Amino acid sequence: MPRTFMPEIKTNEELKQVQLEGLKWTVNHAYAGSTAYRKKLDEAGVKPGDILSLDDLRKLPFTTSSDLQEGYPFPLLSVPFDQVVRIHASSGTTGKRKVLCYTEKDIDDWTHFFARCYEMAGLIPEDRVQIAVGYGVWTAGISFQMGCEAFGAMAVPAGPGNMDMQCQFLIDFQSTVMCCTASMGLLLAEEVNRRGIRDRINLKKMIFGSERSSDAMRKRIGELLGLEHMFDIPGMTELYGPGTGLDCTFHQGIHYWADYYILEILDPDTLEPVPEGRTGEMVVTTLKKEGVPLIRYRTRDLTRMIPGECPCGSILPRHDRILGRSDDMIIFRAVNIYPGQVDHVLSGIEGIGSEYQIVLERGEDGRDYMMLRVEQEQGIDRESARALSSTIAGEIKKQIMVSARVELVEYGSLPRSERKSRRVFDNRDNS
Ligand code: ZN
Repeated sequence: MPRTFMPEIKTNEELKQVQLEGLKWTVNHAYAGSTAYRKKLDEAGVKPGDILSLDDLRKLPFTTSSDLQEGYPFPLLSVPFDQVVRIHASSGTTGKRKVLCYTEKDIDDWTHFFARCYEMAGLIPEDRVQIAVGYGVWTAGISFQMGCEAFGAMAVPAGPGNMDMQCQFLIDFQSTVMCCTASMGLLLAEEVNRRGIRDRINLKKMIFGSERSSDAMRKRIGELLGLEHMFDIPGMTELYGPGTGLDCTFHQGIHYWADYYILEILDPDTLEPVPEGRTGEMVVTTLKKEGVPLIRYRTRDLTRMIPGECPCGSILPRHDRILGRSDDMIIFRAVNIYPGQVDHVLSGIEGIGSEYQIVLERGEDGRDYMMLRVEQEQGIDRESARALSSTIAGEIKKQIMVSARVELVEYGSLPRSERKSRRVFDNRDNS
């Protein structure tokens, strides 16, 4: 038997038992170790001994990003400082950034379940993993590397950017897996083709971190590089960092590590659970995290649970891709729109490139107008372009129920960056 990083549990009952033990431990640990948590729990009238079943989770108060900001620089720390071995922080201005402390066990746990990501993606120890994400306090490239080494594949710690070097490494080291942002993946795919080196490289899989890839981007990258699989790796600094789940090679949702955290999907307004399969806000409670445990932390990320069993047979439950942030929601003529919905509509239409922008303006008549700037495919004629514009407008109207003017632009004319691409431009004066 090759070494596995999957949990030993075989049934849902066993999983629930693991979760209940973890929940009891976490509430005890946070109550004993953090004055901020103790105050929060006391105010909510909950004592650690009150947690007797998983349903008691709902008695617990929520934690939000302001809890983490208020405690700057070391919020919700639940262990003495001599047990802290590392910090990471989310980027952002002082006062907005969140700093998270890790114990040695937290790092070990993170490494273990990150290795699980590579196993979920179907890697083998012969794989060579070119890690082209950032290393440092803001980004956790180191977790990609530690997970890779624990898994037993060969890490190539390349860091981000530097296309010359990346291409050289792909040829010289015959990397089979690339970890990078989706934007950088697209730049690299275009560079590989521009240089005509596709036959000399051995890349089979890409794992995208920190930024969700759009369907259109994935399609384009996959075509340009002839990849077998592409994965979006979820993760946020508050919850360890990247690697808290991954889709398997069937790509029917993201298996998440339910033996490390409990995921609730709640209505962001009422904070009550949504019916199974409906979209809501992800709320997480950690089960083993020592440095900064999370109790019902409101992530602001929107997704839904995927009911039923995955064809891969894994016991680990699945959530859908992140549909957007509840903060990123655009309110346009009283309709709630998430950029992910526009992306989803565009990805179902033939003849368009990989980039798009959503531009919102307020007209002289005081009404709001939406313009979609969409890249067309290379070599499309004027006649087809006109038909394409009305197809896009029609599908947006049909699927999102808003009217948008569509402007097609030349392939390659919208900005691509190695970091996150900005896609929503709200020029309305909301003052
Ligand atoms: Zn699966």
